[in-house]
Amino acid sequence: MPLAALANRSLAPLLLFLAVIGYGRCELVREALLLQPYALPLSTVDFENAWNLTKEQMYGLQSKLYAVNHNKGDIKERTRKRTRRNGVSRITKLWPAGRIPYAISPKYDLFERALLARAINQYHAKTCIRFLPKTEADRDYLFIGKVDGCFSDVGRTGGLQILSLDDGCMEYPTIIHEMMHVVGFYHEHERWDREDHIKIVWDNIDKDAYDQFGRVDLTKTSYYGQDYDYKSILHYDSLAFSKNGYPTLVPRDETPVNS
Ligand SMILES: [Zn+2]
Repeated sequence: MPLAALANRSLAPLLLFLAVIGYGRCELVREALLLQPYALPLSTVDFENAWNLTKEQMYGLQSKLYAVNHNKGDIKERTRKRTRRNGVSRITKLWPAGRIPYAISPKYDLFERALLARAINQYHAKTCIRFLPKTEADRDYLFIGKVDGCFSDVGRTGGLQILSLDDGCMEYPTIIHEMMHVVGFYHEHERWDREDHIKIVWDNIDKDAYDQFGRVDLTKTSYYGQDYDYKSILHYDSLAFSKNGYPTLVPRDETPVNS
């Protein structure tokens, strides 16, 4: 076989893989762009409905993110490096003035819009972050839609970026969790200093999920002065990505990991 043919043959799976990844991402963006003209920003009615939600409606089935995502992660990135950051600190990844312009897919019903409004209310009440309807002038913005499971980029990526909150993700804690990624935070159990606080039990982790247990890179990010938080909304539970039902995250002190 000529060398060139051999080279072509060996590259074929890689090219196919890249094509699928590229196609997948393009499809997501295409759907977001198609739906965007029909997007309606949250209204006064949605924010009023938000306050009438019951605990049961807000917390639903308490679905596990990784179960909804069929054992895949919820952070979309173009790299599969296992070194990750905790809270982004690069100025280009931050949202100027804490303002996050958004558009919402028309596929959400009134109840789901109330859930989104409740989550946004919480950010507005507890932080300086502001989720505000996208205007004509906004070039960098978030499209919230039922795209493909629960996922987000971390921080501002530039241009249109997608926050996918599909049917299984429409629970208040999940929405808050994914919005934290949008703001610029990685998972708590991926902090650089996590070994001081938790033990990762690799033997119990599904091998395909190893990259869900990366560690932060402190050169480009910061803990922002915060202690390790076992109860963080961004901390996976002790059975996350377990292949055998045994714990994958074990606290080094008596404080239980999220359950
Ligand atoms: Zn997450």
